[in-house]
Amino acid sequence: MSAPDKQRTAMRSGHSDQHYDVIVVGAGMAGLSAAALLARHNYKVLVAEGHDRPGGCMTSWVRKPRDRNRVARRFVFDAGVQDISGLSPQAPVRHLLSQIGEQDSLDWLPVQHRYVVNGTTLDLPRNWDGLERVLCAAFAEDAAGISALLREIRLVYDELYAGMAAADYRPVTASAQMQSGQRFEHAARAAGQSYVALLERHIGNPTLISIFKILSEYVTDDPACLSLTDMVPLFGYYIGGGFYPAGGAQKLPDLLCRSIQRHHGEIRLKSRVNAFILRDGRIAGIELASGQAAYAPAVISNADIGASHGALLGPYDLPPRYRQRLKQLKRGPSAILINFGLDAIPDLPARVFVEQDGLIFGLGNPSAIDSTLAPAGHAALSLLHLLPEAEAHSWFALSPAQDEDARKLYAQKLIAAAGRVIPGLEDHIVHYEVAAPPTFRHYIQSENGSIYGAARGQWCPPVASPVPGLFLAGAGTATGPGVEAAVLSGLHAAHAVMDR
Ligand SMILES: Cc1cc2nc3c(=O)[nH]c(=O)nc-3n(C[C@H](O)[C@H](O)[C@H](O)COP(=O)(O)OP(=O)(O)OC[C@H]3O[C@@H](n4cnc5c(N)ncnc54)[C@H](O)[C@@H]3O)c2cc1C
Repeated sequence: MSAPDKQRTAMRSGHSDQHYDVIVVGAGMAGLSAAALLARHNYKVLVAEGHDRPGGCMTSWVRKPRDRNRVARRFVFDAGVQDISGLSPQAPVRHLLSQIGEQDSLDWLPVQHRYVVNGTTLDLPRNWDGLERVLCAAFAEDAAGISALLREIRLVYDELYAGMAAADYRPVTASAQMQSGQRFEHAARAAGQSYVALLERHIGNPTLISIFKILSEYVTDDPACLSLTDMVPLFGYYIGGGFYPAGGAQKLPDLLCRSIQRHHGEIRLKSRVNAFILRDGRIAGIELASGQAAYAPAVISNADIGASHGALLGPYDLPPRYRQRLKQLKRGPSAILINFGLDAIPDLPARVFVEQDGLIFGLGNPSAIDSTLAPAGHAALSLLHLLPEAEAHSWFALSPAQDEDARKLYAQKLIAAAGRVIPGLEDHIVHYEVAAPPTFRHYIQSENGSIYGAARGQWCPPVASPVPGLFLAGAGTATGPGVEAAVLSGLHAAHAVMDR
């Protein structure tokens, strides 16, 4: 029995159906990652999820609309995630899968990136040398700057990931970073460096600056707020590459659920948690909307960061500085997400980043690499356009009729813009549906319909809450948004529980 396993046996108090070692609130990628690792270490785990399926932002669903000939066509749509990093050897997703013995359980399809920026089209290779070669050839006047910029990014990337592995996927504290001295020198400095300022120091061509900025839409609508540390992990798409799980995004959370259940963990869907139960100032369990209670000495909250220390916690004497920081937290962006069923497969790679006439959006074309998502000759296509926090906020003041009109207007504008990248798009639409901020608030229970937890470039809560026994995991915490970061925060939370 490993040390954490032994500790767990000692921790468990009492034994009944409603008593667990750890309860995880929310089956997003962070919550499931924490639960999977803990269950693997023989912790008795309960995951309570409000939605009818696990995965949070990483879910999929099936639609069977009828085409012009009244034939029902089956499409698999994703709630958003279609390009996953973190699968290279030292990266968190690969690490988690190998820890739970599932490294070969999914078929990972490589996602190719194209950029279409103000008339320039560029296909970027999924490897570092190729990236430098293609960029230097396309922007010869900036070649020296490109090489210098990529060199700096790569130094930080290698240190960050080596540091992550050296810390065994626990949070790297500032003092540990100081102690490791020169080894993580570049990574330590990167936290205080502005990514955009670095870009502008090395690059002159405005189109190339846009290309380097646009990938940041995976974490923010405001690249100016990003430090080099925030941005560097995204370059993993050109080091280890990005991937799509064959069959749809849902495959990864489903795999984690099977692993949790195989290790005797319990997953309750349609089980919204209404409150944490506290005893003597520390966490003792949860209360479900059904009125049922479940008990554990540790709770990992994958719920919205505001809710974790607000509605779920209730009145609690948080340290004033922590409370103040939570109050000042800015939410990240929300989005318009359009899922299309098409009767043609766009001649595009699986991911296209577009900027034209000031409009920025991403096209996900997984049917280019996965023929199971739509009938032969058809495609499931997604279009994602970020909305800043203030615009997302104003959406909640709309009446149902205004909400419908606003979705229609956005759809018209975005379909017209996408039609310039996919000629004839409108003629091939069999079905489409539009998600807006209220959709995200409904399905992932995030404040303001925020899709990335909290804005970048500000303090975000670390894994350990000031409430004894409460741990935080998810996009709103210090690790940030994206599946790779959510998995890492889940690993942090699992280790925090095991290290108690
Ligand atoms: C449209 C879109 C596109 C994206 N594309 C990508 C991409 O291509 N690649 C990538 O890496 N990342 C992408 N992301 C980001 C990524 O999906 C998220 O950052 C990550 O999945 C967040 O995981 P999480 O664990 O923090 O929480 P979430 O996914 O937000 O899950 C939280 C879960 O907790 C549940 N919950 C909340 N409160 C309660 C409660 N009180 N009781 C019970 N359950 C509760 C929710 O129902 C939800 O299931 C995308 C996100 C969106 C929305």
